[in-house]
Amino acid sequence: MTTQAELRCRCGEVRGRLANASSRTVNRVICYCDDCQAFAHHLGRADLLDAKGGSDIVQVAPASFVFVQGQHRIQGVRLAPKGLFRWYASCCNMPVGNTLGPAIPFVGIIAQAFASGAQHPDELFGRPIGSIMGKYAIGDPPAGSARIGLPLMARAIRMVLSWRLREQAWPHPFFKRETRAPIYPLSILSASQRESLRRFCGPHPTTDGRHAQ
Ligand SMILES: [Zn+2]
Ligand SMILES: [Zn+2]
Repeated sequence: MTTQAELRCRCGEVRGRLANASSRTVNRVICYCDDCQAFAHHLGRADLLDAKGGSDIVQVAPASFVFVQGQHRIQGVRLAPKGLFRWYASCCNMPVGNTLGPAIPFVGIIAQAFASGAQHPDELFGRPIGSIMGKYAIGDPPAGSARIGLPLMARAIRMVLSWRLREQAWPHPFFKRETRAPIYPLSILSASQRESLRRFCGPHPTTDGRHAQ
């Protein structure tokens, strides 16, 4: 059975639609990396992180996801010149998708963006199948997350390869097919901006992240 899921930013201006939402068609993992934590703090959205600083990410095929409303609000930021492209809705600073770039076909979307009204991420995608980058978690690393997690990585790579084979790489919600250029405005943090976020992030934050920004 396949289900269509709605993405909704917190204020409702930006909306998207995901086709084929199911536990088999996506990869849902908790990422504890310090970049995901820094991104949430940069947006003033530490409320989206779990108690250990984890981001609940649903990885989907680019062609399975489209924005249907509020595209003029979408902006991107890179934490470093070659960092991930991290897209968000500028109306309410809701993250709406992380991408490595047009060549690697996957989009990682925070699970809370699929939580609205009667729609629950657990019902759409099942529970997260694991966690990664636990060495950056705040406090003790969650069970199994500090190791590299080869089965999880293998599953992610398998999915990306199958999306490419099944021509799920294009159209891409964040890049133009002809030029491979980003569709939306993009900024890059300066080194000092990036450094200023570290005090909020694991494994040893020195500032209470709930008061970021
Ligand atoms: Zn919004
Ligand atoms: Zn991460």
